[in-house]
Amino acid sequence: MGLRQELLFRVKSVELEKVKMPKKISAYFGENTFNLATMQRYISKATFSAFKRWMNEGLTITLEQANEIAGAMKNWAISKGATYYTHWFQPMTGLTAEKHDSFISIAGPGKVIEKFSGDKLIQGEPDASSFPSGGIRATFEARGYTAWDPSSPAFIIESTLGKTLCIPTIFISYHGEALDKKLPLLRSEEALSKSAVSLLKLFGHKDIKKAYSTCGPEQEYFLIDRHYYNLRQDLLLTGRTLIGAPSPKGQQLEDQYFGTIKERVVNFMFEVAEEAYKLGIPLMTRHNEVAPHQYEFAPIFEESNIAADHNQLLMELMKKVALRHNLICLLHEKPFAGINGSGKHLNWSFSDSKGNNLLNPGETPEDNLQFLAVLAAVLRAVYLHADLLRASIAMAGNEHRLGANEAPPAIMSVFLGDQLTRILDMIERGVKSRISKRDIIDLGIARLPRFNKDVTDRNRTSPFAFTGTKFEFRAVGSSQNISTALTVINTIIAESLDYVAGQTQKAQGKDLNTRVLKTVATVFKETKKVRFEGNNYSPEWVKEAKKRGLPNVASTAEALEALTKEKNIKLFEKYKVFSREEILARYHIWVHMYDLTLEIESNTLNEMVNASVVPAGLEYQKLLSDNLAQLVRLKKEGKVRLDKAALDDQKAHLADVAAKIYYVRRNTKEMMRLLERTKGLNAEKRADVYFRELKPLMEHIRKHADALESVVSDEHWELPKYREMLFIK
Ligand code: ADP
Ligand code: MG
Repeated sequence: MGLRQELLFRVKSVELEKVKMPKKISAYFGENTFNLATMQRYISKATFSAFKRWMNEGLTITLEQANEIAGAMKNWAISKGATYYTHWFQPMTGLTAEKHDSFISIAGPGKVIEKFSGDKLIQGEPDASSFPSGGIRATFEARGYTAWDPSSPAFIIESTLGKTLCIPTIFISYHGEALDKKLPLLRSEEALSKSAVSLLKLFGHKDIKKAYSTCGPEQEYFLIDRHYYNLRQDLLLTGRTLIGAPSPKGQQLEDQYFGTIKERVVNFMFEVAEEAYKLGIPLMTRHNEVAPHQYEFAPIFEESNIAADHNQLLMELMKKVALRHNLICLLHEKPFAGINGSGKHLNWSFSDSKGNNLLNPGETPEDNLQFLAVLAAVLRAVYLHADLLRASIAMAGNEHRLGANEAPPAIMSVFLGDQLTRILDMIERGVKSRISKRDIIDLGIARLPRFNKDVTDRNRTSPFAFTGTKFEFRAVGSSQNISTALTVINTIIAESLDYVAGQTQKAQGKDLNTRVLKTVATVFKETKKVRFEGNNYSPEWVKEAKKRGLPNVASTAEALEALTKEKNIKLFEKYKVFSREEILARYHIWVHMYDLTLEIESNTLNEMVNASVVPAGLEYQKLLSDNLAQLVRLKKEGKVRLDKAALDDQKAHLADVAAKIYYVRRNTKEMMRLLERTKGLNAEKRADVYFRELKPLMEHIRKHADALESVVSDEHWELPKYREMLFIK
């Protein structure tokens, strides 16, 4: 019996002790975070109000106050059992990084005490030279600094043998350039806030000082048994299966989506949720997704900066908790060929400082006009900057999803729904030089319907869909840090809010209503091409989009080129989100990461072919040829009267196996030659060849390897099969 088959007897969930009376969530929600309520208990009134002023009005605190907060944070963390602390940050590679330090400090010979000062809270200096900087830092000034982000509460991560205080930070170079994903997000929030406040002023809301974006990311993922994972080099090293014949049953019966969650999985979900709640992550929904062993978690939305931190934390928690259940959580965008991949739908909106959602139509015509102005800004932003949106989600893993059948295509379009479309069309047609009350009623904006109540009006295929009180950006990959997409959305919408405000001020017309309607009517007309209400997965849409001149970029590296376009660099500079150097650095890093990913994948495939696929084929081939030799001998000696057709059939089978081995080997050698040949090319050129030649070649190898898998005897095939990874509970 092969190792793989032996596993069948070992695969099982861990023994868990039954929880008789689960704790009430509200009793422990956020208990491992140093949130405002906790901070207030630990520091003086004056320092607390200084801290709040810092958060709300941007007035920084003094070093003494920082010292007081650091001391409080330390005391709180120590009281919870933490012995180490770390500045927690998000480098440009999309992971999270930490370097732990103990709280101890020498207090005399052989004696230590726990200490943590304000300067250590505010700034850290990890050895930054090994984080990619995309050329921002020359090696002689390799220093990078982490700086405390007080807007995101510090938290405690529990391990079995100890606890660590984690302090959310930004990561910057010596000269202050952003080396991470968080600082640009914070800057884009500033930009959005400023633009939103100006627009609101126009509508008479002079008392609004701030606005912020909100986000609820829906996290899709797969779970598979850990034993199988460990036997798959591809999953282990690349996060996805590079080969694997399809299971006869996949997702055809659609019997998984929203089905009963299996006990083993629901236990995992309970534990993830408990850990998440302790960290103040407001998980809300959990369910089965479309593919076998695919699931989803969705939180209640929060301010985007917090939502982004929480999503990073959640992904880490999911991976960690899965291991405790003998499971592996796969966050890759396309772990299995032929069945759905995983994405992360970003529900995005923005609110003013009073908590009014600006994508919520109001009760009065004035509020509705404001809503339409905001809507116009969103449409214009997506229309003008589809290339940036596409770039914000470009990565090797997501490339498998975009344009594949179950995921939004690489064409960025907006879905608004019937009702809203009808209203927009009427506005576009019917704007007069003066708008009366009657006109407002006729145009359907006196009272806009509550769009979110309209559940029939849904389009699940649109990459950027209006869903009642928010937009849903569906093209984000499941493993991605959402900060980049959020940064781009915030920036392009800030710019369009300014545009709409500017045009409204310039427009002819006596009253504000007329001027606003004129402006939005023009925007609705000019951006009409970006609206699409039909099926985004259909081939007709690809043709139609081409006719409309909408970009449809399948390749990651080509999509990333948007970051180098002068119009986009200018945009980011104008809104102080990225400097030219910062955005170009990201371009270089991300193209390079694409290359590295493909190189790791093809080298892994090569190893699998040589070490697993071909040996299995050869063993089986030997079995067949030994058999055949014996049959021929027995026939010759007259001991067996063998039918010619039967003998020919066996010969053909042997020849078929030999041919399959040959094709796998031949193409694999060609793949390795291609890698060799492209070694000297620069990153962009390599990415181009990898996309056009290497990927198809890998698919080709896969086709033959999978064909071999489906003829080789089960016993000789060592790699866990799709049916086992996807169906064994
Ligand atoms: P849907 O039916 O459109 O999926 P849900 O109410 O189930 O809507 O919400 C889906 C996700 O959208 C949740 O994570 C939710 O918190 C988030 N969401 C709801 N309102 C907003 C908002 N104003 N801003 C950002 N995200 C939101
Ligand atoms: Mg979903």
